[in-house]
Amino acid sequence: MIDLTKFRDPKLIKKIVSDLQKWEKPTKIMEVCGSHTMAIGHWGIRKLLPDNISLISGPGCPVCVTPSSLIDELVKLENVTIATFGDVIRVPGKDETLEHARARGLDVKIVYSPLEALELSKEKETIFVGIGFETTVPGIAQTILMAKKQQLNNFSVFPAFKLVPPALEALLSADDIKLDGFLLPGHVSVIIGSESYMLLPEKYGIGGVVSGFEPLDILSAIKIITEQVKSCKPAIVNEYNRVVNIVGNKNAQKVIDAVLEVEDALWRGIGWIPNSGLGIREEFKEFDASKKYNIKLKEEEGNTGCKCADVLKGIIIPPECPLFEKTCNPAHPIGPCMVSSEGSCAAYYRYER
Ligand code: SF4
Repeated sequence: MIDLTKFRDPKLIKKIVSDLQKWEKPTKIMEVCGSHTMAIGHWGIRKLLPDNISLISGPGCPVCVTPSSLIDELVKLENVTIATFGDVIRVPGKDETLEHARARGLDVKIVYSPLEALELSKEKETIFVGIGFETTVPGIAQTILMAKKQQLNNFSVFPAFKLVPPALEALLSADDIKLDGFLLPGHVSVIIGSESYMLLPEKYGIGGVVSGFEPLDILSAIKIITEQVKSCKPAIVNEYNRVVNIVGNKNAQKVIDAVLEVEDALWRGIGWIPNSGLGIREEFKEFDASKKYNIKLKEEEGNTGCKCADVLKGIIIPPECPLFEKTCNPAHPIGPCMVSSEGSCAAYYRYER
């Protein structure tokens, strides 16, 4: 057990905050992970920083980047159980959410693990909605291996998996915003290792710090980024070395690689990003819901006024969306960034008003 109270030591927090208050250069840091967005709000980190250091949220909330066309396709299905993690049922499609579809009779069940979906498939044809980043994927890949071993033919997974490093590259290549550093995701890095981000300093001249979720983790990471900016020496630093190593979890990577392969992925609000997703390998095609039900994703149309696309790219912060707090709130979310407990709009609504 790790004693987390030492990462909340007020004296150390005051010392780092006092150092950061002396920092004068305008500096923009993107926290990639939705859990960081929530932690920053929860610990009041933004209020501890000088005005010239801005923290902006990135595309690291898996529910927020789930394309609306996936919801549109799922709600059309009949005679299947759709098993999904809880947040997903409130993600808006073009006309309805899975929650609305459940109210009119579609069999939608919230599960806490893909294994629960596997059990459900023993009773009835079941699709598990495979949403998540590198952190969630190994457990789902392992479940597909188990389904194959048990020769189940009523179980499939829709692979809506996303990979973090290609998304960061896409953001940097798009040149929509100028960043000075990344607060890199702790949970994802447990699986992929800190070396996965080396392209950022090498190709784009921008550094990042893999950070934990306690106040001292986040503040130390921000301080390291300011030091990199000062010295003009961008690098990848692993602040979260109590759980993250350089190469990641090789066993988890092996399971992913056995079942899934890299492919292009559609990110809500961002579009198709090359090599930023994982599809199910041909050897496991009987468990691939996209093939079994011929589900094809397409870029969203329509205009609800939601600015999630700009929020996910760090172009605006949630209060800059005209609908924030007025017509869009957690009880009546208009976009997915207000739905998920890791969504940037939900975090601002909860902690930063
Ligand atoms: Fe979309 Fe609501 Fe966020 Fe605006 S406040 S960007 S409408 S989720």
